[in-house]
Amino acid sequence: MSHFLVHSAATLLLQLVAQGQLDMEGALTARDRVGIQDFVLLDETTEAAFLSNLKKRFSKDLIYTYIGTLLVSVNPYKELDIYNKKQMDIYMGVNFFELPPHIYALADNAYHTMLTEFNNHFILISGESGAGKTEASKKILQYYAVSCPSTTLLNTVRDKMLMSNPVLEAFGNAKTLKNDNSSRFGKYMDIQFDGQGDAVGGHILNYLLEKSRVVHQNHGERNFHIFYQLVEGGSDDLLHQLGLERGCQHYNYLTQGQCAIVQSINDKNDWKTVKNALQIINFDETHLFEVIASVLHLGNVRFDSDSKGHALLNNNTELHWLLGVDAHRLQEGLTFRKIEAKKDQVLSPFTTDHAIYARDALAKAIYGQTFTWLVNRINESMENKDPSRKTVIGLLDIYGFEVFYVNSFEQFCINYCNEKLQQLFIELTLKSEQEEYEAEGIEWEPVQFFNNKIICDLIEEKHRGIISLLDEECLRPGDATDLTFLERLEEKMGNHPHFVTHKLADKMTRKTLERGDFRLLHYAGEVTYCVVGFLDKNNDLLYRNIKDVSLQLILCQIKMCFRLYCKYRRRPETVVTQFKSSLQKLTEILMAKEAWYIRCLKSNESKQSGQFDEALIRHQVKYLGLMEHLRVRRAGFAYRRKYDVFLKRYKPLCPATWPHWRGVAADGVEVLVQHLGYLPDEYKMGRTKIFIRHPRTLFATEDAYEKC
Ligand code: ADP
Ligand code: MG
Repeated sequence: MSHFLVHSAATLLLQLVAQGQLDMEGALTARDRVGIQDFVLLDETTEAAFLSNLKKRFSKDLIYTYIGTLLVSVNPYKELDIYNKKQMDIYMGVNFFELPPHIYALADNAYHTMLTEFNNHFILISGESGAGKTEASKKILQYYAVSCPSTTLLNTVRDKMLMSNPVLEAFGNAKTLKNDNSSRFGKYMDIQFDGQGDAVGGHILNYLLEKSRVVHQNHGERNFHIFYQLVEGGSDDLLHQLGLERGCQHYNYLTQGQCAIVQSINDKNDWKTVKNALQIINFDETHLFEVIASVLHLGNVRFDSDSKGHALLNNNTELHWLLGVDAHRLQEGLTFRKIEAKKDQVLSPFTTDHAIYARDALAKAIYGQTFTWLVNRINESMENKDPSRKTVIGLLDIYGFEVFYVNSFEQFCINYCNEKLQQLFIELTLKSEQEEYEAEGIEWEPVQFFNNKIICDLIEEKHRGIISLLDEECLRPGDATDLTFLERLEEKMGNHPHFVTHKLADKMTRKTLERGDFRLLHYAGEVTYCVVGFLDKNNDLLYRNIKDVSLQLILCQIKMCFRLYCKYRRRPETVVTQFKSSLQKLTEILMAKEAWYIRCLKSNESKQSGQFDEALIRHQVKYLGLMEHLRVRRAGFAYRRKYDVFLKRYKPLCPATWPHWRGVAADGVEVLVQHLGYLPDEYKMGRTKIFIRHPRTLFATEDAYEKC
């Protein structure tokens, strides 16, 4: 008998859950089984309650949870059957809170708001490396490509938008210790829609590609995917034509990380995908692969030294594979510095170290140029030819906060970028919340945030910030080195609460710092940076040091092959200053749009499915400011709904509103909540929405709804 009871209860439970998946909220809101689908409805706003809810849902493969309209996503590290046409159809045009949380719901809501209000939007996807940002952005793009209305003509633009992804990933992504497919550039993509909601065009802005990876990879990491795809997947003919041998083991630039073969990556298949994608974007790939091959050839260039220690090209080196470049000139460029002094040219021989440096600088420059060219070509192919009015949804998938064992200039830029985005988030969430209360005529008390402006200032303040000091050292003639830069930092920043020098480190944090390191207390945690290479990387010597005439000329020749505009400016800006101004522009682009947020969390460090590493997730919840966001959402009033939406859902709970309320929705809501016994202090009636102070009030209503 008891056995039977247990069995039937379990069956019932399963049925309910199954029903919940297909049906609307129904079974899914039952908090004890699948957790709460909107954190705003949690009884208490403690971190423990937050994590426990997240964990409960994660264990049921429910990776999405809302905080109001913000979407929290936890990387499941396994394929879930929730991204298909059927699911897209379910979410299309349905009100945000009526279905279980999903990335499609957010995409759909942004889309419909854009159509009805005819304004511009952006979706900011953040989280650390490997948390699922790029996957999220792909899912959104797919949603728009599949579910927006279509005409055959427009399908081509749409295909191109979709196909830009595998191409950019091949050239801009690589295996790192954190993620087998880590984006090594930042990407902002505008999807343009016409008045009917058709996707009619796209435009990509790219940010700071990690070029140093072309010539150097840390242990356990790879170069950009495209190199491996080419030497593994390219046809015999193509490889022959490019002078390449099959297999990555032949190339210096591909083997430093000692992990050319990765289980999760199939370079041969990916090669086919990329080739196919290039075709759809109408690419003439010949030049492209010639350039990629020349980078590989460059990496194999070796130097011997003569009796005076000057660099000589190794006899076995074959330079003629280097696209269109005169072998003699290249040889000269790699082994001599040509200095132009007034009318004279002086040749000064390199040591082998210098020669290797020049070789690598050239390889990085060539790859960087190729990437820019590629993005431009993709943009041309997706260009919206119709000049009529359009609105956009921007997708921002930019590198997340990064902390490695050794952190260098690249991590400094990436983490600076994350500080800026956090600033934007604070501005926009506080601002929009305040504006909403104001617009609705509701009083409220603001919540205190940790404002990371102090860290942004430390980094970017004019004449005083780290960037200014770095640039000053880069431009200072004479004996400036990474270490003199560090000395300047210590001199100027020594007392800043977010800056730690090796002199103070022991006292403050009891963690030692090596000489040559400095530490920043970022909003997301502390990061120790090693200054070695900061000056060089910031100078990006090839462009900035105009004394290196011969290498510049070679690069120029290559640029000509790409038909790129090519001109020297006498003193181009440093890398970090260019980055700073591109972030400034990005902020302006975003501030003019309505914001939607996706916060991606990494479930564990070992990329395993089903593992919920609580400490790791707690840390991310903290620095992504999720608890603060939740408190802001609940401060004053935890919940708000448009009158008609609220009425439509809960009208069965009151005889006067069921089945129809004949009158103004606001009045119907008033009658309804009176009937439900809401106390005057528990809610406020705004101009278009009802505001509910405590989640438990709405929760009781929701429970009643489920039972009725
Ligand atoms: P990020 O861009 O944040 O660095 P990615 O989006 O590249 O991270 O995700 C890293 C890996 O995690 C992916 O290659 C994939 O294996 C897995 N992953 C991320 N999001 C999902 C998801 N929604 N479903 C299944 N696997 C995912
Ligand atoms: Mg990514």
